[in-house]
Amino acid sequence: MTYAAIAAQLELNANTVKTWCRRARITPDPTIPPVDNPLGVWCLHCGAPITGTRPAKFCSQQCRRTWWHARPEKINRRAFYQFTCPHCGAVFSAYGNKHRVYCSHACYIRHRFGTKGGRP
Ligand SMILES: [Zn+2]
Ligand SMILES: [Zn+2]
Repeated sequence: MTYAAIAAQLELNANTVKTWCRRARITPDPTIPPVDNPLGVWCLHCGAPITGTRPAKFCSQQCRRTWWHARPEKINRRAFYQFTCPHCGAVFSAYGNKHRVYCSHACYIRHRFGTKGGRP
């Protein structure tokens, strides 16, 4: 495998792989012909070169499904957004909504219609 293919499989930077291989005195086997990879992009799951007209993260639907299936925490993290409530200062997260501002409806009401503006 090339450094880039190893890097793709391990989710590391190609330079990191190169450094580690050098440290461990491992060099790519010269008898293995270099893989033809015109796009220079490797499947995140199996490390196969991505073929086609535009770069993709995975070589196939199967690889995409397997990769995401093994990382449920990454799927969740994408949909969770972190906020700090401007009223009470609480840090909270909301699922699937980037535009939340207050931690609760009560904070929203108090912040907007609360003690400010001369009201009781
Ligand atoms: Zn693949
Ligand atoms: Zn609040």
